[in-house]
Amino acid sequence: EGQEVPYDPEQLRKVQEHPCYSEKAHHTCGRCHLPVAPKCNIQCNYCIRDFDCVNESRPGVTSRVVKPDEALDLVKQVMDEFPYVKVIGIAGPGEPLANPETFETLRLVHEAFPNLIMCLSTNGLLLPDSIDELQQYDVGNVTVTLNAIDPAIGEQIYSYVNYRGTHYTGREAAEVLLEHQLEGIRMAVERKMFVKVNCVYIPGVNDEHIPAIAKKVGELGAFSFNLIPLIPQYKLAHITPPTPAEKRAMQDRCAPFIKQMRHCARCRSDAIGRLGHDVQSRIYCGESGCGE
Ligand code: SF4
Ligand code: SF4
Repeated sequence: EGQEVPYDPEQLRKVQEHPCYSEKAHHTCGRCHLPVAPKCNIQCNYCIRDFDCVNESRPGVTSRVVKPDEALDLVKQVMDEFPYVKVIGIAGPGEPLANPETFETLRLVHEAFPNLIMCLSTNGLLLPDSIDELQQYDVGNVTVTLNAIDPAIGEQIYSYVNYRGTHYTGREAAEVLLEHQLEGIRMAVERKMFVKVNCVYIPGVNDEHIPAIAKKVGELGAFSFNLIPLIPQYKLAHITPPTPAEKRAMQDRCAPFIKQMRHCARCRSDAIGRLGHDVQSRIYCGESGCGE
């Protein structure tokens, strides 16, 4: 774990007790996702908005959106029942940083439970603009989805980007997104946050480019790299996804540059519990009367 040396014990806990950052912790520690963020500010060509953000979660199931105060109640309930949950994460169902409710939730939860590890996933567009506020709520783990470091490839993956009231398309959209992603990763590393990079493996589009992405983010000081096989839908529905063997081979090609996360469970944006042992339906049914 190459990056561990410059970190103090309190920071190391953000790796050691985080099931996605530590292979060991994934058997013992849990995470609780709070689905407070429905809106998104970009369009990935593999995403149909009816479901959870594909960049972090499994498509095909939509998480019920909760309000920040409901999210805090949920955390209280989870902490009572499942003390092995050490991480609170916001991963959708849309783009967390495009929703003011994300920041309100982080504030409420951090005030009530200052010892919980705060985690967030993002497409990166608003990461530079949000980084100070994230630091204020002690967000120590940030996942950025980065599918290209060449805008000529990026423009095949993204249809548009909405940034500060301007609608970008084509090459320009890919350029704006990339610039913000790289700057956001750099700023997060500078603030000693642990950065995980998710990268969607899209055969025929970015596959030959993926080791270069891994090299770049390794150089920027990202902590780990999570390769996600494409789930073919929307504009990329015609693409055959990589096989598990192709995925492993690609991870091996990227491993010299950055630590590979190989145990991602592709969770729902309302997942609660240990990876692969979720309890969220019980929680949501128990108190909220959602009828699931
Ligand atoms: Fe969909 Fe997530 Fe991409 Fe937004 S960032 S378009 S929610 S996959
Ligand atoms: Fe961790 Fe992967 Fe689940 Fe995200 S989707 S919480 S990285 S296991």
